[in-house]
Amino acid sequence: MAKKLTQPTRELVFGDLWEFDPAPESADPKLKKRYDLFINGSFVAPHSGKYFSTINPANETKIADIALADTQDVDSACAAAQRAFVSTWGRMPGKERGKYLYRIARLLQDRAREFAVAETMDGGKPIKESRDFDVPMAAAHFFYHAGWADKLEFLAPGRQIAPHGVVGQVIPWNFPLLMLAWKIAPAIAAGNCVVLKPAETTSITALKFGEICQEAGLPNGVVNIVSGAGETGAAVINHPLTTKVAFTGSTDVGKIIMRSLAGTEKKMTLELGGKAANIVFDDASLDQAVEGIVNGIFFNQGHVCCAGSRLLVQESVAEQVLAKLKRRIAVLRVGDPMDKNTDLGAINSREQLTKITELVKTGVAEGAEMHQSACRLPTKGFYFKPTLFSGVSMSHRIAREEIFGPVLSILTFRTLEEAVEKANNTAFGLSAGVWTDKGSRILKMSTLLKAGVVWANTYNKFDPASPFGGYKESGFGREGGKQGLLDYLKLI
Ligand code: NAP
Ligand code: MG
Repeated sequence: MAKKLTQPTRELVFGDLWEFDPAPESADPKLKKRYDLFINGSFVAPHSGKYFSTINPANETKIADIALADTQDVDSACAAAQRAFVSTWGRMPGKERGKYLYRIARLLQDRAREFAVAETMDGGKPIKESRDFDVPMAAAHFFYHAGWADKLEFLAPGRQIAPHGVVGQVIPWNFPLLMLAWKIAPAIAAGNCVVLKPAETTSITALKFGEICQEAGLPNGVVNIVSGAGETGAAVINHPLTTKVAFTGSTDVGKIIMRSLAGTEKKMTLELGGKAANIVFDDASLDQAVEGIVNGIFFNQGHVCCAGSRLLVQESVAEQVLAKLKRRIAVLRVGDPMDKNTDLGAINSREQLTKITELVKTGVAEGAEMHQSACRLPTKGFYFKPTLFSGVSMSHRIAREEIFGPVLSILTFRTLEEAVEKANNTAFGLSAGVWTDKGSRILKMSTLLKAGVVWANTYNKFDPASPFGGYKESGFGREGGKQGLLDYLKLI
């Protein structure tokens, strides 16, 4: 870790004289200028001949043209998936299917640096996160589900199980490759074939995943990737051949999907938004809690469905925690996502930056007190300073709506009951965090909190074996573990 003495006259990022040297990642992302659709094992031009641009949000430069799939392309992809299901994949013994998943996992590991750089360029997340979290976790999901492929009968003892057939999947832009892995690995391990639509701003790693499928020798049509906009997603979800759909994205689009599928026999899982409470009791190790709070809200610029975006602190330690947090955000490095020292990279898109900026303005207008790090932001690209709001009340928009950015709303509580009441007073129910020295309190809180995942004295911990998902307006169905896999099978 090189340290350099900066000129005392320069405006300093850290408020002291020490700064890291830049350490840009140098692996080649092997990008193409143009990405076609991945249908039936080949890259094919879109039927309409239309492409859209994807940019690097860190500097607003164009990276590549991405094929825009229309309903005819979705039709071809679904037909290819159906053929593959009937002719090969649906009949293949699980033991054989598993070998392909292992191969995919190993190929992802082989090309990990390349994928990490591509992910960071297309989406803006810090390279240390794509390199150390997104790509290894994506590989881990394929490894985990490869192990299940020949043991599916143990998921539902005494019951007959069968894959659904063609599965339609639509994913968001915050963890593009990882969300793809969460969706595709269990689906194909269970014997389904898939048609997946990545998010418009982050299609590159999904289309590069097509190359991995080719390298792995996956039978044609088992995985199909159709890039495009919301209409492409709707075409995948509503296609007559898709018998099960899996969607991760906003609650608003989740509601549209539920309405459009009402009355059909399609199985559906929805992973939607969140507004998680991260609850700090006065007996918690405060320094440890502060690290967890920072990870909970600033990981991936706060573009995390389970982000700990509402901090509930016990009143007796609230001032102390706020002071520690202010000191901590002052040393977060914001800037070039390709620099290995960067803590917060670029906001994914101009639209998302506008949304964050507007919600932050309402926080100020409604009377909460804003504290921002004094860091300087790059002049090009989309960036937002790490932001804390104290004096937030439950009625404020910043306490109720998902901001999906690096903005923490801080509320206080006096008793455990008040903490639970405030934590559960939300339309969402995806995740929560509890910080306390008492094991009994952790157990009590985890039963009282209405959230799919409750972390205790840690935050944002994931494992392919651990089911993830929400309830209320955070959706239904699970991803990961036995429960996630069961959603890709029907019991007969
Ligand atoms: P979004 O607008 O709902 O988009 C998600 C995906 O759906 C994108 O691929 C989008 O395409 C597509 N889409 C848009 N309209 C559609 C329609 N009518 N029918 C079918 N597909 C449609 O969400 P986002 O802004 O990309 O992602 C952020 C949201 O995802 C947040 O609310 C976050 O909490 C949630 N999220 C949840 C989880 C979880 O596991 N619970 C995980 C990650 C993110 P375009 O890209 O072209 O718009
Ligand atoms: Mg992009």
